[in-house]
Amino acid sequence: MKIVFFTTAHNSLSQRAFVELVDRGHTVIVVIASSEEVMLEVVDREQPDLIVAPMLKKVIPASIWQQHTCIIVHPGIKGDRGPSSLDWAILNACEEWGVILLQAGAEMDAGDIWASRTFSMRGGSKSQLYRHEVTEAAIQGLLETIAKFESKTFVPEPLDYSREDIKGRLQAAMKQADRAIDWAEPTSSILRKIRCADSFPGVLDTILSMQCYLYGAHEEDALRGTPGEIIAKRDGAICRATGDGAIWITHLKQKGTDGQPSFKLPATHVLGERLAHISDVPLALDQACDRRTYREIWYEERQAVGYLHFEFYNGAMSTDQCQRLREAFLLIRQRPTKVIVLMGGTDFWSNGIHLNMIEAADDPAQESWRNIHAMNDLVRELITAESHLLIAALQGNAGAGGVILALAADSVYARKGIVLNPHYKGMGNLYGSEYWTYLLPKRVRGAKARELTEALRPISTRTAQQIGLIDDAFEEDAASFHEHIRKLAEELASSHLYEQMLQEKRQRRKNDEERKPLQAYREEELQWIWMNFFGADRRYHMARKNFVYKGIIPSHDKSGASLERESGGLLMKDAQLAAGQVTGWHYGGRPARDNYCGEASMTAEILDGRALSAEIKAELHGQVRRSVEKQGQAPGLMIVRVGSDAASGVYSKAILRMAEDVGINARLAQLSVKTPADELQALLVQLNNDRAVHGIIVQMPLPAHVSQKMVTATIAPSKDIDGIGPHSAGNLFLGLPSFLPSTAAAVMEILERTQTPLEGRQVVVISRSNVVGKPLAMMLLQKNATVTICHSRTTNLAALTCQADVLVAAAGIARMVRAEMVKSGAVVIDVGINALPDGGIVGDVDFASVREVAGAITPVPGGVGPLTKVVLLKQCVQAWQLAGENKDLKSAALL
Ligand code: NAD
Repeated sequence: MKIVFFTTAHNSLSQRAFVELVDRGHTVIVVIASSEEVMLEVVDREQPDLIVAPMLKKVIPASIWQQHTCIIVHPGIKGDRGPSSLDWAILNACEEWGVILLQAGAEMDAGDIWASRTFSMRGGSKSQLYRHEVTEAAIQGLLETIAKFESKTFVPEPLDYSREDIKGRLQAAMKQADRAIDWAEPTSSILRKIRCADSFPGVLDTILSMQCYLYGAHEEDALRGTPGEIIAKRDGAICRATGDGAIWITHLKQKGTDGQPSFKLPATHVLGERLAHISDVPLALDQACDRRTYREIWYEERQAVGYLHFEFYNGAMSTDQCQRLREAFLLIRQRPTKVIVLMGGTDFWSNGIHLNMIEAADDPAQESWRNIHAMNDLVRELITAESHLLIAALQGNAGAGGVILALAADSVYARKGIVLNPHYKGMGNLYGSEYWTYLLPKRVRGAKARELTEALRPISTRTAQQIGLIDDAFEEDAASFHEHIRKLAEELASSHLYEQMLQEKRQRRKNDEERKPLQAYREEELQWIWMNFFGADRRYHMARKNFVYKGIIPSHDKSGASLERESGGLLMKDAQLAAGQVTGWHYGGRPARDNYCGEASMTAEILDGRALSAEIKAELHGQVRRSVEKQGQAPGLMIVRVGSDAASGVYSKAILRMAEDVGINARLAQLSVKTPADELQALLVQLNNDRAVHGIIVQMPLPAHVSQKMVTATIAPSKDIDGIGPHSAGNLFLGLPSFLPSTAAAVMEILERTQTPLEGRQVVVISRSNVVGKPLAMMLLQKNATVTICHSRTTNLAALTCQADVLVAAAGIARMVRAEMVKSGAVVIDVGINALPDGGIVGDVDFASVREVAGAITPVPGGVGPLTKVVLLKQCVQAWQLAGENKDLKSAALL
């Protein structure tokens, strides 16, 4: 079925519903239903079989629910209505609660019931209950609903308050007044108030004269004080006395002045110096704790197995948390155990770097850099731990670097029902690090790996297991999962194969290190991510702000405003991207390519020259249209063709057509093959003096009696738009502005428009010709690439091409570059145009095999070719503009 999700956010429930339905073969389109218009447009376009609203705060327009079945997932028992269902259930200490799936109708939450589930309540926060009990119940109910819908015979049950089993009622929206805390109240009551507002909206309270929303409440059994007093701090949390005990509060959100939004941070961070007098009460990592308290990282040991728990709020790991976890790991590595189980937290395994802490830093770019280094340091310790076998036990969801963190273990197991997001790009095209270019291809190979990092979709544990990302998934409830993991770990520790497995692990690491040092992976990843943090592309910073502030960046955040301007609306697109609606190239630059190395295989991204050429053509057309009045005439281009070479005929026609599209006045001077050289020279001089002609190209090949040297020397440098003359070549060599040979310039255009990094990279060019190899090498040098030129006399060509991060082939030999000559993940630009005996055209690169190893590749035809022509026109427009201003390129650049 084609199912459309209308949701306010693609949260844990909607992601889980998405993966469950996709796994069952349905097509699911997730729509962030920001307005009625969006909903109407999507329904009109997609004509879905069914609409599901997993978490929708908006009303579905009547015209939609009157024509389509719309199922609302409501976190309440039958009869319950209103926006604060779960909040009331927690505050009122209900013992049982539920989920209903009802049909959208005229009245909110009052439609006919398709399915319902109930569950026992436990002492968790609203978000914990939502992520576990509510989600499980909703998924079961949704699957039942879909089966009923497909049966076409089921009639949903109308809501009838006269029935005894309908216990729920319409409840008002909960207000801050309902949540207000009196600290003399008992712990249990205060806990319920904080938990029923966690993670949204938080309970508003005053702490040390600061108005804050409270989150992350945990009971404390030992510490005591005057009610309301702050009595201790630990791991970023504060402990506050209640009427009969104390409560830890891990996170606060300062109430923004003038209603400005702010965001959640660890409590000690928000209160800062105000807590100077409060004592820190650390708990040793392995201190057994049979009382209730709060700690982020702890360790237990049983039967030669060590269990390392790290329960970070929302799975975010700050620089400090990464460092503390690494230190903890180094300590427990000293223990005489055999297996270490990395338990993560119950709600989240890990979600990678801590975007809120980064946002709160004085210099977010620097803090991003520190945070990723701290993550990398931690992951490196896991990868290189040769003393133990490591198990990652994913009890909760994981995303981005958090997924990669798990892959550093020797075995990866997950609780059934968690959702994984093994990609970074949704966060403003973030490249990611954590040695993912080493760890991911070890588990997921080829096109699948690329799909994972590119599609930006959540995946189920079922899919993760199928593609090899994890080893197994079992048990849906947390307690059974723990038990299963314990058994597995103990069996491993006592296995007679244990020593052999450890030995094999050491050998594998040694081999991997010899093939490519870990440090090299790290440095390569960091080069890319450095550009995300410090480079000109500000999308990561914008996306982070958007994420942290939930899309409402405060007006006082000047950096946010300027970033928004710079990013020119990319913010919204990133949000869509995160929601899995937009993928690929849709907004300007190509997303950072994946840099797989070693033996991994992949399917390369196809660099579509036609699309780029259309983009440039549109830009040129705009430029010409805007300036034509000022210039007094259109740009003029003259193509001179001597003789009737078929290929040059096709080329001329294509240029004429394209020039017309752009608004260039292009003409062809067709001369006989017998035209004397001096006659051709006279024509060129005449064209040099013709003020209506701004660019001249002479088609190659020329007849034998005409010297190419004469032609290139005669064309005026100001009209040499193909950059073939000695003047242009000299300027290029000296690094001065010049017209460029169009094929070489087309290669540069592709590299630049796809944001392929060149600085310091190894670029190998197979060609030393005057039109491709030599000029291209000069241009690449200007971009600080490390350039190697190969040619017909180069020995051991493959040894050089294998080093290339970027490989350009322009030898004119059909399919000479084969897969084994290409480094995994390299960008391959194929300039060659070779006619086959059967009339087909192929490049210099064996496309079919190379695309399996390269990161990106240009096809032939459809790669460099279309761009060559458009670059020529671009330079013609440039010559026209300079002529209008009475400048040549050099003086223009100097002015
Ligand atoms: P060329 O013959 O002038 O240059 C070929 C270069 O390749 C020389 O430098 C030569 O030393 C080198 N070479 C040849 N055999 C080699 C080998 N076995 N190993 C290593 N190097 C080798 O040709 P050109 O005019 O520069 O064109 C090269 C190719 O590019 C041709 O296929 C041509 O059709 C194509 N081309 C395409 C475009 C386009 O728009 N896409 C434009 C111009 C040329």
